[in-house]
Amino acid sequence: MAATAIANVSSLSKPSSPSTSKCPFPQKPNLFLPPTSKPLHKPFSAAAAARSLSRAISASPRSGDFPVGDGADDDHCYYDELDDKPREECGVVGVYGDPEASRLCYLGLHALQHRGQEGAGIVAVKDKVFQSVTGVGLVTDVFNESKINQLPGDLAIGHVRYSTAGASMLKNVQPFVAGYRFGFVGVAHNGNLVNYRKLRAELEDSGSIFNTSSDTEAVLHLIAISKARPFIARIVDACEKLEGAYSMVFVTEDKLVAVRDPYGFRPLVMGRKSNGAVVFASETCALDLIDATYEREVNPGEVVVVDHEGITSLCLLGHREPKQCIFEHIYFSLPQSVVYGRSVYESRRQFGEILATESGVDCDVVIAVPDSGVVAALGYAAKAGVPFQQGLIRSHYVGRTFIEPSQKIRDFGVKLKLSPVKQILEGKRVVVVDDSIVRGTTSSKIVRMLKEAGAKEVHMRIASPPMIASCYYGVDTASPEELISNRMSVEEIRDYIGCDSLAFLEFDSLKKMLGQDSPDFCYACFSGNYPVLPKEVIVKRVGDFVDDGLSGSIDSIQGGWVQGPPVDDDSELVAPLAG
Ligand code: SF4
Repeated sequence: MAATAIANVSSLSKPSSPSTSKCPFPQKPNLFLPPTSKPLHKPFSAAAAARSLSRAISASPRSGDFPVGDGADDDHCYYDELDDKPREECGVVGVYGDPEASRLCYLGLHALQHRGQEGAGIVAVKDKVFQSVTGVGLVTDVFNESKINQLPGDLAIGHVRYSTAGASMLKNVQPFVAGYRFGFVGVAHNGNLVNYRKLRAELEDSGSIFNTSSDTEAVLHLIAISKARPFIARIVDACEKLEGAYSMVFVTEDKLVAVRDPYGFRPLVMGRKSNGAVVFASETCALDLIDATYEREVNPGEVVVVDHEGITSLCLLGHREPKQCIFEHIYFSLPQSVVYGRSVYESRRQFGEILATESGVDCDVVIAVPDSGVVAALGYAAKAGVPFQQGLIRSHYVGRTFIEPSQKIRDFGVKLKLSPVKQILEGKRVVVVDDSIVRGTTSSKIVRMLKEAGAKEVHMRIASPPMIASCYYGVDTASPEELISNRMSVEEIRDYIGCDSLAFLEFDSLKKMLGQDSPDFCYACFSGNYPVLPKEVIVKRVGDFVDDGLSGSIDSIQGGWVQGPPVDDDSELVAPLAG
């Protein structure tokens, strides 16, 4: 689908001092390691789409009323649902100064496909005219040569999105483009605003009309109503009303702007091509694919403006200690990426080494739950001095398909994705390394599969601490009552999963490994200590929506809500993290 918007011609002068003062952000060392390849597979959840608001707000943590068991509907099985992982919501990319900007965005989105498979879009600007192509599905589903040819210009932004569902799905695919009295602006957003309900209610009270159920649209309204001048000051003005997570790229008729929230929850990097074109992307793997050299992070609380005059860096007010999502290093980002100045591969290898040191067990072979457990398993095996083998093989040809088995097959869904290698497992004491456990349903199936393939013992090692809390910052985690570690002790989980031993990465060991960077990370899903407390009883997340809420009140939007933590109205918005 294509849409065209013709922008007014208006010249924007550079912001004047003091708002244009350079930010003295420290640069972190590049711990980049040689790239490794990883196939792209991230899950799709249908069950989450069916979660109702009433369910989201009625159950309480540790209530014990969430059904424990197989978790799969054998009659109607979306098998990606069985990949029991939190889901990253989005990836963004922006290019300034290359005549093939939209083509580079397309390639960048390819590299970021693991961050969202439900929708993709690109907005390009040529001669102050905006052209947009968005669609539902994978990047290759949405774009072809002719669609890319509809996006001329040397300025473009792109977006991949996880999770839109129902009748409103296409409307919620980004980038969004909006016209206002001074021209047009496009935006692509990774993250989640925790004050969306309040913002939207205030904006609607003052006459704004929403076209989507996305919190990103509220940002465009805030820019439109801002009285600040020039445009960049409007972006700063709008962002200072936002609470929560946002790594965003904006495009105007002559500028590319990248913004990261003051906590830096979600990643955003900057690179440059040999022709001088500037590139922003959620991960460095996107820069690698288009031969752009990684220069640095967009720092938490930084606004970077690129135009014909060069690059200008501004600070958002309220710049605080960063709280970057540690799950990027545990699961979301590709191992070849450098995220927050650290190599993801190196982090995962060290997680495995720590597990081997602190939770070692006598074994004959170390295997991984592919793909995200592989690097940690390599680290475990190297440290333990035990061979690493591919005891589980992942099918790379499983897509999003509705499956209706003609007969009930135990563990059907997981067997489609993972196959045990009997020759590796038979009669062996096996350590199997995974990155995380969410509900525990898939883990129990994997253990059963390994034992049925002949493993004598199965010892599960998890390269992250137990998840006990939901995320409000752009990650589609399960609700607290669904998180197995919120309901059970480690021994109870071991018993439920059916393995011979189970160990998680110790929280303190994780922080110790991060060293002096440790305070700069968000660990809320492990600790329940939220860097930004939502002051709302329920918080919209970017998950699966079955209704855009346009035909009723905001509360009528079904799904996509999680219960906020108890908050004292008089309390500070920001709660310091323990430790
Ligand atoms: S709560 Fe967890 S998933 Fe969410 S930003 Fe914090 S560390 Fe990341």
